Amino acid sequence: MAEIMNAVVKEKPELGAEFRQVKLPELKPEWVMVKVKACSICGTDVHIYKWDPWSDNRIGAKNLPQTLGHEVAGEVVEVGSHVSRIKVGDYISAETHIYDPSDITALVGQFHIGENMKILGVDCDGSFAEYFAVHQSVCWVNDTSIPPEFATIQEPMGNATYAVLGEDNDIAGKSMVFIGDGPIALFGIGVARACGAANIFVVGLSEYGLQIAKKMGADHILYADGRDGKDLQKRVEYIKDNTYGAGADIVLDMVGALPAIQEGFKYLRKGGRFTAFGIAPKDEVPIDYNNSIVFKGAQIHGINGRKIFDTWYRVRNLLTMKRVDVAPVITHLFELKDFKKGFDLLLAEPRLCSKIVLFPDTEEFQKAVKRLEERIK
Ligand code: ZN
Repeated sequence: MAEIMNAVVKEKPELGAEFRQVKLPELKPEWVMVKVKACSICGTDVHIYKWDPWSDNRIGAKNLPQTLGHEVAGEVVEVGSHVSRIKVGDYISAETHIYDPSDITALVGQFHIGENMKILGVDCDGSFAEYFAVHQSVCWVNDTSIPPEFATIQEPMGNATYAVLGEDNDIAGKSMVFIGDGPIALFGIGVARACGAANIFVVGLSEYGLQIAKKMGADHILYADGRDGKDLQKRVEYIKDNTYGAGADIVLDMVGALPAIQEGFKYLRKGGRFTAFGIAPKDEVPIDYNNSIVFKGAQIHGINGRKIFDTWYRVRNLLTMKRVDVAPVITHLFELKDFKKGFDLLLAEPRLCSKIVLFPDTEEFQKAVKRLEERIK
């Protein structure tokens, strides 16, 4: 195998990244080497690309250079001496939360959170490269019928699936409000529809995203800035009018903006579930604690990652059996060397893209473009 490969590397603590040659990652005894077929750009990658205060705190200039990326699908080409669960030839994706089995959370089955958890592409080199190496414990074997541009988005689709289904998977016949129109909200709408949610509202800002939300199965489109003539009070009334006066059974905040969180509780019915996925700009969020939570009997569910591997199992089945069509969300495909085109689209205002998938290999890229053209036909 070659010793040198191409990768998208964050070199300096400033805007941007470089496409350059680096050494292949080291194959440790419990790790596997993966030839990347597709990798996709996540909001986290955009934070690191911009090198915002979060990146500076979380990664730090002293840990650069580092390869970007964590959403991935590829083929295992080599396994370490102590690998037993994964074999050469397996078509895998990676759970990005690399858990420490000695964490109390892991011991009680909550592998996705833990004091010593590390994140792929944040705490170590990532997957925007021709090859990447990863611990076998976080490898997930894909169904070979899932094309790489879909297999790579299972990680964010997993966020969406866990957020939608919660801990009890009890959404059938219920009403849901999604606040946000980014890729994870859009995947979530598809999952909610497939799993039997009966009435789906989306509150967003991007016309581009909201049009995809319709394709994914949203029943009602509302504008967070009131451009449709519905201010917050009217949106609350609209949601109540369409839920027999009660409010929504489940509200998912996929944005994290202060007004979004505050208004989310207003959409929620008594006894409903509020799912907190978006990351707030400040750690402290003022909310009406008594009326929003206590007297409402609300449940609040924080989402950090996906259940390992319960969520992956469900996502694989949903994609393999084509219960959710994620194609409308995957709006752009580029070769890895053209990664800057993807980041430019993600940084532009207004944002005219959703999920962007990159391909290190030209042939894989061409095959994916052909599939995309056939799906559009
Ligand atoms: Zn991601």
